Amino acid sequence: MNDVRDVTIIGSGCAGLTAAIYAARANLEPLVIDGYEPGGQLTLTTMVENYPGFPDGILGPELIENMRKQAERFGAEFRAGAVTEVDFSSRPFVITAAQASYRTRTLIVAAGASARLLGLESERQLMGRGVSTCATCDGFFFRGKEIAVVGGGDSAMEEANFLTKFATRVYLIHRRNEFRASKIMQDRVRGNEKVQIMTPFVVERVLHPHKGLVEGIEVRDLSTGRTSILPVEGIFVAIGHDPNTKVFQGKLEMDAKGYLITQEGSRTNVPGVFAAGDAQDHHYRQAVTAAGSGCMAALDAERFLEVEPHP
Ligand code: NAP
Repeated sequence: MNDVRDVTIIGSGCAGLTAAIYAARANLEPLVIDGYEPGGQLTLTTMVENYPGFPDGILGPELIENMRKQAERFGAEFRAGAVTEVDFSSRPFVITAAQASYRTRTLIVAAGASARLLGLESERQLMGRGVSTCATCDGFFFRGKEIAVVGGGDSAMEEANFLTKFATRVYLIHRRNEFRASKIMQDRVRGNEKVQIMTPFVVERVLHPHKGLVEGIEVRDLSTGRTSILPVEGIFVAIGHDPNTKVFQGKLEMDAKGYLITQEGSRTNVPGVFAAGDAQDHHYRQAVTAAGSGCMAALDAERFLEVEPHP
């Protein structure tokens, strides 16, 4: 068992790294535990053009690497490994990751959320190269092109509509004839002449991983069983997100979908445990909002340490 840390941060995406920069600059020597997807969702995207301060844009992985270096420069330490157990029954808390245990006076949960994927090998291979899970991030790159959006919820409707600002045609592909999305969102899509709805259809393959870019998708019409190729240059998978909070079930308050509930800034129901980023936000889900909430969590942890006796 290591020494007791003042601040431990779970997750090294935008929220976790911003929390690390703030905590490190406050001389709290934070420990960052990387998690399943080191660097978070920004590492799955290419050019980020809406993060303030980069007039020419910046690659997602580069932005994350810069944040990591910035945190390290002020003394943040990093450990690889997903957290498998947390013990909040007394302070200091005990965190177990990659078979090591860490004791900490405060904890910032910035474990993020993972976009659900279709589970196709070709989808994985072309992620960030025409396959995307974020229309706000990547829509701009499909100006004048034909693209597909997969899903039948509000996210898919919102993304399909938004993407018609750029794309000449958007195929909205959903596995059932009924949409889960709210009526108003469906009506907007149905009223948008650039959107072509395809139901009940599923995506079987994204073409062509060996070329490193999307040149089409193979879809199956579930009513006839027939397959065909749609000549799209991009595919947006909008079938929901899952917060990475399973390990906190029964320990931290969360909503029915597993998003952590915060109050008065970043406080969770356990004093000394704070939450930031997509693990607690299913509404905005932007790099800049995640960074902002990471900052809030670090400041809240710092204040907590100032007023609470140190166990
Ligand atoms: P969601 O409501 O869970 O919808 C996910 C959609 O993806 C469903 O239509 C589902 O199909 C489909 N899907 C799931 N797994 C799939 C798979 N493996 N293959 C193919 N399709 C699959 O998720 P969401 O749209 O991200 O919305 C999440 C929450 O945020 C909702 O409460 C929503 O109302 C809210 N939201 C609101 C707004 C807004 O109001 N502006 C915008 C975005 C999101 P089935 O229907 O067949 O299960």
